[in-house]
Amino acid sequence: MSNNPFETALNSLFIASRLADLDPNVVEILSKPKRIFEFTIPFKMDNGEFKLFTAYRVHYNDALGPVKDGTRFAPDLDLDTVKALGLWMTIKHAVAGIPAGGGKGGIRVNPAELSERELERLTRAYIRKLPLKGAWIDIPGADIGTSGKTQAWMLDEFEEIMGYHSPAAINDKPVEVNGTQGSAEATGTGAFYVTMQAVKDFGISQNASVAIQGFGTVGRMIASLLYKEGFKILAVSDIYGGVYSAVGLNIEKLALHVAETGSVVNFQDAESITNNELLELPCDVLVPAAVQSVITVENANKINARLIIECANGPVTHEAEKILEGKGTIIIPDVLANCGSAIVCSFERIQGLTDDYWDLETVLHRLRERILKAYQETYQVAMSKDISLRNAAWVNALVKLARAIEKRGWV
Ligand code: NAD
Repeated sequence: MSNNPFETALNSLFIASRLADLDPNVVEILSKPKRIFEFTIPFKMDNGEFKLFTAYRVHYNDALGPVKDGTRFAPDLDLDTVKALGLWMTIKHAVAGIPAGGGKGGIRVNPAELSERELERLTRAYIRKLPLKGAWIDIPGADIGTSGKTQAWMLDEFEEIMGYHSPAAINDKPVEVNGTQGSAEATGTGAFYVTMQAVKDFGISQNASVAIQGFGTVGRMIASLLYKEGFKILAVSDIYGGVYSAVGLNIEKLALHVAETGSVVNFQDAESITNNELLELPCDVLVPAAVQSVITVENANKINARLIIECANGPVTHEAEKILEGKGTIIIPDVLANCGSAIVCSFERIQGLTDDYWDLETVLHRLRERILKAYQETYQVAMSKDISLRNAAWVNALVKLARAIEKRGWV
């Protein structure tokens, strides 16, 4: 199968469109972005050297509301990646019941090679040159290579251009500049709520065993919440390797070890394990929370978990999923399992529009309600149509999008 991410996304769209019996005209609309902006940013580096950066923003589809989502600064960014991410965000917002369309953008640049001053000037230039933006059109958030820091600069630049305050125009801002509580916790906590419901629905006991790949923002959050609930965390890994304990890892101590050393490796009271061994461990729940395509045809047959919670985007390849389905493995798909940050971003916009800022408890309470509703809708479609949860999530999303597209009179 192609390695082109947009072709991969379209493949999922076409499979789910057939299952949803979608109007071919709706499928045609959803197979192309509504608007594509590709522009260049002439730039003088701190040392006076001239560089021309390529930038993108795709408004993939806005049938459900203004487009929103991340801004990626990466050296290999290309238009097909941005289009694919825009389509996935369109689906993710529809799955989560968020009144927003899918957008994505960024600059082809390695931010690690920029000075702080260059990063700030380039980020501000991106916002200045973005043709269409604002709380009711397109709300850029953070992604790989961007962070709260860049989002605060984007907000400041946007408000300077407009001449008025507009905190709802940019997402993933720090709380000091009208961001939301719970940004950092959103994805891991959302995935935790979904896991708690899924273990109930699929008859897995509360003290089940878990293996988690990735101990960053998302992996650390879900690990600590499952640990506090009494799950046995057998193994955890990061890019440097993994650690395993047959009696379960103490996640609080492990987090301290990572804070001191920068990695999970060499954690006391644990054995070393590779990332591949972690994925193949006999356990009830496997949580890939690192990178894409870690479960492939090469290892799918050796996966022993009963339930996979896709915290990373696309950790299971299409071919591997067929093998896992044959073995009866249940997969909670990425568009559902990791939509917590998309939900909390929509809360950030609501707070910016109303000037009413919520405490962490309120954010997490509303996140729980919203993500469990999305889970229930997906579960019911999966059961009633006898299809996988991934296909059910996409079918659900496509039905919502098709209704909006039809009511708008686009077809
Ligand atoms: P992060 O950078 O904070 O942490 C990533 C973790 O994965 C680190 O522990 C890192 O060492 C590990 N890792 C990186 N490459 C690895 C490899 N090849 N093998 C094993 N481990 C590796 O990232 P994050 O924010 O925790 O995101 C994790 C995943 O979840 C990513 O795929 C991301 O796209 C996805 N995701 C994150 C969010 C979010 O809100 N942060 C939202 C949706 C999806």
